[in-house]
Amino acid sequence: MRWIGGRESTNVDDRRGVSGGGLVAGGGIIGVIVVILRLLLGGGGDGSIPIPGGGQSQQMTTEEKAADDERAKFVKVVLGYTEDVWTQLMAQQGKQYPAPTLVLFRGQAQSACGFASSATGPFYCPGDQELYIDLSFYQELKDRFNAPGDFAMAYVVAHEVGHHIQKLLGIADKMERLHGQLNETEYNKYSVMMELQADFFAGVWANHVQQMKNVLEEGDIDEALNAATAIGDDRLQKEAQGYVVPESFTHGTSKQRYYWFKKGFDTGDINQGDTFHDPSLQ
Ligand SMILES: [Zn+2]
Repeated sequence: MRWIGGRESTNVDDRRGVSGGGLVAGGGIIGVIVVILRLLLGGGGDGSIPIPGGGQSQQMTTEEKAADDERAKFVKVVLGYTEDVWTQLMAQQGKQYPAPTLVLFRGQAQSACGFASSATGPFYCPGDQELYIDLSFYQELKDRFNAPGDFAMAYVVAHEVGHHIQKLLGIADKMERLHGQLNETEYNKYSVMMELQADFFAGVWANHVQQMKNVLEEGDIDEALNAATAIGDDRLQKEAQGYVVPESFTHGTSKQRYYWFKKGFDTGDINQGDTFHDPSLQ
């Protein structure tokens, strides 16, 4: 993807530095509990309090830091591109586009949806309308999911922004209501539709960002499709447990994710993405 020199979004809350030094200012409840425990147990007061599960990447070499900053820049440009595209697409529907804020964190962060760690993977929280990304996921895409390439990461960002679009269109709130009404298997079915629609919106974005800015390079769409395939539930489950349990799917199979991203990209039409009424998903 051609991105160098692109506008970096300013809707970014960069907390990477905050969590780097042990005591996490934004660490919320857990951080506070650790501090209190430490005080109760009479621990020393050097101010450096290790927090379980966090901070494995606290000490970065200069090169690692440079690479991390480069990725942050990239993600900010991608976010800027999503703002430009979605502002236009929403305007065509007579709607405003209040852009989401991107929280960059390292190791862990607090969100309105609860505690986030790098193990959670990138996510969107409808409660605070923020996207949470630990940039180490970029590496994970390449190493763990075998989905390298900058556009693989762009797809991930665009997918999370897709959830923001669902929030703006009222779909996320509908889902929220369903949560209390359905059993887990039923709810999972809706969750798959929701995730596939976010993939679809990511595809729509890819279509329009190309039309608006001509930023796609040879192989980019393949990188995104490969990533969509790599993080399908069937693939992940098979990797994790050796077999597949379809009713526990919450994101969709590799094939479905591939299909919906591609459909979004091929049509560029947000009205073609009604996964909730698609016969193949009933
Ligand atoms: Zn998702």
